Amino acid sequence: MKFSNLKLSTPYLKLDSVFYTKVEPTPLEKPFLISTSANAAKLLGVDEDLNLDEALVAIVNGSQKLEGSETFAMCYSGHQFGHFAGRLGDGRAINLGKVNGQNLQLKGAGLTEYSRQGDGRAVLRSSIREYLVSEAMFGLGIATTRALALIGSETDVARERWEKGAIVLRLSPTWVRFGTFEYFNSTGEHTKLKELADYVIEESFAHLKGQEDVYLKMYGEIVKNTAVTIAKWQSVGFNHGVMNTDNMSIDGRTIDYGPFAFLDDYKKEYICNHTDRDGQYRFSNQPATARWNLEHLAVALSPMIHYELMDEILDDVFRPTYEKVYNKIMCEKLGLQSEDKEDKDLFYELLRSLELANVDYTLFFRKLSSYDGDRSSILDICVNREYTDKWLGMYELRLEKEELPTSKRHEKMLKVNPKYILKNHILQEAIEKAQEGDFSMVNDLLIVAYKPFDEHPDLEYLVKPVPMSAKNIKLSCSS
Ligand code: AMP
Ligand code: MG
Repeated sequence: MKFSNLKLSTPYLKLDSVFYTKVEPTPLEKPFLISTSANAAKLLGVDEDLNLDEALVAIVNGSQKLEGSETFAMCYSGHQFGHFAGRLGDGRAINLGKVNGQNLQLKGAGLTEYSRQGDGRAVLRSSIREYLVSEAMFGLGIATTRALALIGSETDVARERWEKGAIVLRLSPTWVRFGTFEYFNSTGEHTKLKELADYVIEESFAHLKGQEDVYLKMYGEIVKNTAVTIAKWQSVGFNHGVMNTDNMSIDGRTIDYGPFAFLDDYKKEYICNHTDRDGQYRFSNQPATARWNLEHLAVALSPMIHYELMDEILDDVFRPTYEKVYNKIMCEKLGLQSEDKEDKDLFYELLRSLELANVDYTLFFRKLSSYDGDRSSILDICVNREYTDKWLGMYELRLEKEELPTSKRHEKMLKVNPKYILKNHILQEAIEKAQEGDFSMVNDLLIVAYKPFDEHPDLEYLVKPVPMSAKNIKLSCSS
């Protein structure tokens, strides 16, 4: 199947017209292809080379349509930094329609009904970030929206300085957000909540159809999926940066990448978003923020589901799911197979020592994945060695209880502790090259995004150490 031969349907447009506004994309000037993802294309059943599809750029630029496509922007609201923000909606994302369970969307394709003061555009810098991290999160096994293609252009876009406009063609099984429900609760259109819930069940939770208490069960699934995703974020050191309820996907996947970061040195109070002055969305606060967001989703759903029942589910499901998944991953990262009631202490002690050691989170676990008792191999990457040294003593004692031979343990650990992680300093280098017209690093990063646990001898330059000046920096929200 060729991408430009896809036939789309538009189930969202069967909802009442208050859910969306039809809008035509505004194409960029002199668009050109930067990168495509064959891996994401597979989701659509596309197996012919995207790079040879002569209509691809025009479709991503919105100047040509796939068969059946009717373009529209979705309406939603949300809590931003704890405050209800009124009507938001897709201010620069335009939906094309759906095929193979994936909704296609252009980010940066021009003004919509919901653009407010914005220009409807996305710049090359933020588009490269979103394009690569979508695929990198997938490679890490974390639920995420995907990216199929990235185009650049000669359109000037005003940010802190002039930048060039770009568009990412994003894919997701759903683009409904917690904030979509919040909008229809805030306007008092409570029949619309039910209409939306039925749509969400059909689109994302079809296995619940026909069951008793189906709406309550839907809420339970949202809580569970969200807890799983956040546990995975914490395990890889991912800081989202803008966990507003409009950036929370209804099926729990990671969505809307802005000033995100993967931890360099392990610092649990790290704040990646420069505008997050109080650190509301700091790394350590992500589980609590997700729970807060789920509480506000429950408020939005309360005209159709008893709030107390949702609150009970939140209590019963969120924390236990989060802890189960997080603890399991951490045991895997340490190569522990047998269960030991003291393991939790072992990895909380580890996190405490990492914090004090000033050591790169990703590199530490990768090194530990071939640890054979030679402590200097690990201590040499720590600025403060004593804390890690003490912890390694605890770890060695714990390993004595394991039956798996060391080589087998190493093999397993190397499959769960990534070597390649999309650090901001590497991304920044790729962006600066791309701004000069060299997209080779973007495409190299895409290769390692899919196989972050493998060795890529030709691409070692993508794991170079973070310069001191770039460690755990804060990023601007401008995009
Ligand atoms: P974000 O935090 O990027 O997810 O965006 C929050 C809201 O602002 C969403 O409704 C976006 O669609 C909208 N928005 C962000 N940037 C722009 C832009 N350049 N033009 C129009 N709307 C935007
Ligand atoms: Mg958003």
